[in-house]
Amino acid sequence: MEEHIVIIGNGISGVTAARHIRKLSDKKITIISAETDYFFSRTALMYVYMGHMTFEHTQPYENWFWKKNKINLKKGYVKHVETNKKTLVFENGETLVYDKLIIATGSKPNKFGWPGQDLEGVMGLYSKQDLESLEQHAPNHEVCKRAVIVGGGLIGIELAEMLNSRNIPVTFLVRETSFWNGILPEGESEMINSHIKNHHIDLRLNTNLKEIISDENGKVKSVIIEETGEEIPCQVVGLTAGVSPNIDFIKNSNIETNKGIKVNRFLETNIPDIFAIGDCAEQHEAIDQRPPIEAVWYTGRMMGETLAQTICGNKTAYKPGHWFNSAKFLDIEYQTYGWVHGLKGKPDYEKHFHWKHEDDTKCITIAFNKNTNVFLGINTFGIRMRHDTFDKWLTEKRDVDYVINHLTEANFDPEFYRHYETEILAAYKNQFQTV
Ligand SMILES: Cc1cc2nc3c(=O)[nH]c(=O)nc-3n(C[C@H](O)[C@H](O)[C@H](O)COP(=O)(O)OP(=O)(O)OC[C@H]3O[C@@H](n4cnc5c(N)ncnc54)[C@H](O)[C@@H]3O)c2cc1C
Repeated sequence: MEEHIVIIGNGISGVTAARHIRKLSDKKITIISAETDYFFSRTALMYVYMGHMTFEHTQPYENWFWKKNKINLKKGYVKHVETNKKTLVFENGETLVYDKLIIATGSKPNKFGWPGQDLEGVMGLYSKQDLESLEQHAPNHEVCKRAVIVGGGLIGIELAEMLNSRNIPVTFLVRETSFWNGILPEGESEMINSHIKNHHIDLRLNTNLKEIISDENGKVKSVIIEETGEEIPCQVVGLTAGVSPNIDFIKNSNIETNKGIKVNRFLETNIPDIFAIGDCAEQHEAIDQRPPIEAVWYTGRMMGETLAQTICGNKTAYKPGHWFNSAKFLDIEYQTYGWVHGLKGKPDYEKHFHWKHEDDTKCITIAFNKNTNVFLGINTFGIRMRHDTFDKWLTEKRDVDYVINHLTEANFDPEFYRHYETEILAAYKNQFQTV
């Protein structure tokens, strides 16, 4: 009989593992999810609320795809893993036996024990259920006269954009001195502060949530600010202060965990035949400078592909290559390749060249080693760049002069877009006078 591979989680990681195992073998595959019947693209949730697509459009595969490819789908919440019996126990008491288990249970929004954090009208932005809750409590600006968002990061700004699209006034509480400045260098972070304010979002920097106040029906009525005691009336509170691995259900098992499920380079846990991938996995040792937990889409996909090889007999280590990522700050597109540090973890040798366009919506920062001039990474805002070009330059350890002088080759904006390389080169010469 074929081995039974059971995957908990139908997100990008679990589904990629299943698809690749199917390509490589006839193993029996079951994917379990407590969230939805079918895989959907979490990164597209915002566009459903904004009316750009329906929820069905976020499902990359037709509903018949799973049956045709002999991938069983099971809806249910796994409450416990009995590793000695290779058995999953569901919330409703059902059980399921596996030969190999892949845990791909993703993240959950952080809650820091704020009073009122479980009131009606308080939500994260992570699951389909969060989207439904937002639709219910913030359908328009008559029902939701103000929303307060707690936590400035990529998900917080998405939520601000979503609410903005329905003309719902937003107060955005950010505890840092400048938006996302743990990650973004100062000039970029300041540009995003202005951009947020230009969208009439009430951005409050250096500001913490103290508590969420309930009305007489257990619904959100207002929030209180820690620093000033100010009370801000609101009908919705979005908690977007980061995410953490969704692994509470295995905390009482013998699978080793820290913040996430501990895995080695082969994505193996401490228990034979149990693996973890995606947002919920934590590498024993960081790979290059990458965080041990990588809560991004493409690394989940890479881990799924890599593990499928191992499960099908071709033992393969997870090698993600150079770091990259992209996101959007309202209308400004952001891309990052290699490492450009903000306040968090910037090494002494890392020096930055920063250029900003006078309209305050486009900028780049190039990081390089001040001792060797080797190019370390680039952030771009409002200018699209080619991933493969930077990947190559990072591998070739090009120096910063080379990168600046060849920037045109990396530009991905369509031909009729204005290009800025001449201005960038002039600014570079001005700042460093090395070319
Ligand atoms: C709003 C938003 C926007 C984002 N935008 C970007 C972006 O632009 N770029 C980017 O790189 N990343 C983005 N991300 C992050 C990215 O979506 C995640 O890194 C990725 O979806 C994680 O995939 P995963 O397969 O590891 O887990 P998930 O997608 O979280 O899937 C895990 C699934 O497992 C289920 N599950 C958990 N526990 C159990 C259990 N005990 N029993 C049964 N089922 C269970 C969950 O309900 C869930 O359905 C975004 C995330 C959010 C929330």
